[in-house]
Amino acid sequence: MKTTIHEEVVEAIILKKTPYKENDMILHVYTYEYGKMSVLARGIRKVTSKNARACQDMMLSELTIHLKKGLSTLIKATPLDYFRHIKENLESEIVGNYVLEYYYRYVEENQPLEKEYQMLYGALHALDLGYLPLIVYLVFDVFILEHNGVSLDVEGCVLCHSPQVVSISLEDGGFLCQQHLNQHQPYSKDVLKAFRHIHKIPITSIEHLHIPPEALHVLVPLMEAFIEEYTGIQLKTSRFIHQIV
Ligand SMILES: [Zn+2]
Repeated sequence: MKTTIHEEVVEAIILKKTPYKENDMILHVYTYEYGKMSVLARGIRKVTSKNARACQDMMLSELTIHLKKGLSTLIKATPLDYFRHIKENLESEIVGNYVLEYYYRYVEENQPLEKEYQMLYGALHALDLGYLPLIVYLVFDVFILEHNGVSLDVEGCVLCHSPQVVSISLEDGGFLCQQHLNQHQPYSKDVLKAFRHIHKIPITSIEHLHIPPEALHVLVPLMEAFIEEYTGIQLKTSRFIHQIV
């Protein structure tokens, strides 16, 4: 939304803040309108700052900014959603931080994509509503793979397309049938079904994803291995994920 020639109002999710000079912060945000960008927030570390409340990590705010190439500057920040329940639950917070780290480190600046915004907002919203953090994590991992050009075929065996699948192969990149099982270990029906569902069900329909704990324990390290093998992406926050599996 344009207000004057120089001012813009954007909807932003705060990914991270870095201290700047004595009283300032640089906000690293993902906006619906401009994608990922950096905004200089002057005086925000002063106790008298009116904008500080709406500039915390992992929240959605409306920012009025002076839009510039490079570093834009903040005029006014208004809170829209604190995602308060995420911070009340350690596991939700761990997965929330994992999502934010990915966006901060691996998403291109100034390239707004509706899909990226929806995934970021959708993951935080799902965590805030209290959906199981590891389920959000798995759906987000599928997004990371797709975001890096890797989309796994989950319709049948990757080698012969048989729908009668019994295992998942990291090297082959998907399901395997009994005939192509070779040295791979077979997985339970719950694991196979959940692996397919996390690829098929979008974050906005997360209420349809039901994954029993045993299947979660198999899928979390498996999806992590897929990301490592096919994208090389390594997130510092993933070590905290290990603590909650
Ligand atoms: Zn096969």
